[in-house]
Amino acid sequence: MSQGVHAYVGLGANLGDAAASVRSAIQLLSELPDTRLVRCSSLYRSAPIDATGDDFVNAAVQLDTTLDAHQLLRELQRIELDFGRARPFRNAPRTLDLDLLVFGQSIIQDSALEVPHPRMGNRAFVLLPLHELNPHLAIPGLGQIEPLLAHVRDQPIEKLISVL
Ligand code: ADP
Ligand code: MG
Repeated sequence: MSQGVHAYVGLGANLGDAAASVRSAIQLLSELPDTRLVRCSSLYRSAPIDATGDDFVNAAVQLDTTLDAHQLLRELQRIELDFGRARPFRNAPRTLDLDLLVFGQSIIQDSALEVPHPRMGNRAFVLLPLHELNPHLAIPGLGQIEPLLAHVRDQPIEKLISVL
């Protein structure tokens, strides 16, 4: 397989054993077709923003993939379903949320997919794990990750443990 596109995926869970869900989701991401798991961030704990329930466990991974962005999104949705995610109401607590954050240099805005993820630029629980993966990441349309992080310093988040 050629190296493919550098894609970054954000993981979040706040139901049941959230850390275990995030860990097994990372395992499933490492088994995706035409895709290589390059790096995993640590696990983080963050307070819910625009959501209800317990604290979230968050992480991010870098994948190199020759899937296209929509194929990758469908794989992420399939894994979410495997974890029994239901959406009883908007921003309900979730077993597992997988967001396609960045897909190479692509900027995509259609009915199924927005990349870079529209709310990633102002969320510490996305930016901090992403920064751990690549402190020099340039996010298409948003710029360098470091200055973005400076704006979310007040959001409560703590590093839990390294994944690997
Ligand atoms: P959020 O992750 O924004 O809190 P949801 O996970 O419930 O909310 O949103 C899922 C919907 O968002 C799906 O229908 C999916 O098609 C759409 N979507 C748009 N862009 C993305 C993306 N970059 N990553 C994941 N889902 C996305
Ligand atoms: Mg999502």
